[in-house]
Amino acid sequence: MHTPFHADLHCHSTFSDGTLSPAALAQRAAQRGVTLWALTDHDAIDGVPQAQAAARAAGMDFLTGVEISVSYASTTVHIVGLGFDASNAALQQGLQSLRNNRGPRAQEMGRQLAAAGIAHAYEGALQYVGNPALISRTHFARYLVEAGICKDTHEVFRHYLVEGKPGYITQRWATLQEAVGWITAAHGVAVIAHPACYDWNAMQEYAFFSSFQACGGQAIEVVTGSHASHEFAHYADLARTLGFAISRGSDFHCPQESKIDLGGLPPDPRGLTGVWELLADRIVPAHPR
Ligand code: AMP
Ligand code: MN
Ligand code: MN
Ligand code: MN
Repeated sequence: MHTPFHADLHCHSTFSDGTLSPAALAQRAAQRGVTLWALTDHDAIDGVPQAQAAARAAGMDFLTGVEISVSYASTTVHIVGLGFDASNAALQQGLQSLRNNRGPRAQEMGRQLAAAGIAHAYEGALQYVGNPALISRTHFARYLVEAGICKDTHEVFRHYLVEGKPGYITQRWATLQEAVGWITAAHGVAVIAHPACYDWNAMQEYAFFSSFQACGGQAIEVVTGSHASHEFAHYADLARTLGFAISRGSDFHCPQESKIDLGGLPPDPRGLTGVWELLADRIVPAHPR
């Protein structure tokens, strides 16, 4: 039987701020009709070997993946890498350096939240961490919901964890050039994650897209669980105008938190090049061809 092509190239496991293992994600994706899959944990590729084995067992084609935290013009942006060689030493060391800063940042978040009247948030967040090297704001959000301080994680972010709020720490992540350089030097393709999620005007957005392209970035996410559906067409037009390939992914983290499940996205706008076409020879096939 012929299965229609369905890519989901953005999601998170317990190796970062997701709540499912790579194997559980792979099974869930395959059950929901995904045929080409990538796991893209924040600043970590330790889950990739498990993901690759589980993708094969579930009958899906696979691309290596990661979502890198980048500091750009006083804001944080996310760059997804796909199809890279996961054994590349410079990529591994670069990601390690980002993870190293997360522990001290989380402790400082705990101190600031304590000063704002919320005790033991760091210890609480640690209980939700699947990978001790990767504590994120999401783990704090889950703890603050459990502690009854907010009704859901979105409310925690709004009140505590975004710029200008008590639990927010300004962090120096990778530069754009570093992140794109690590990915491309490891033979992968760099992708701007959820471009609609940054607080930019059209000029600022254009400047960012141009810098990304100048660094060697080749693709942007268009259909993603982190975009509202009315944003798909705008980023499809931008991809067409600026000559980017497109990527797509649910950005799934957790059955209770994520509004789009694995495999739950609508089809791409027509007439654009998929990032999987650029990466055709980097796809790990589910079945020998
Ligand atoms: P961090 O890398 O520690 O700064 O955490 C970033 C993560 O927090 C993102 O990848 C999302 O999973 C989550 N996040 C960011 N903003 C929000 C929000 N407004 N509501 C829910 N989750 C969010
Ligand atoms: Mn996340
Ligand atoms: Mn992101
Ligand atoms: Mn993500």
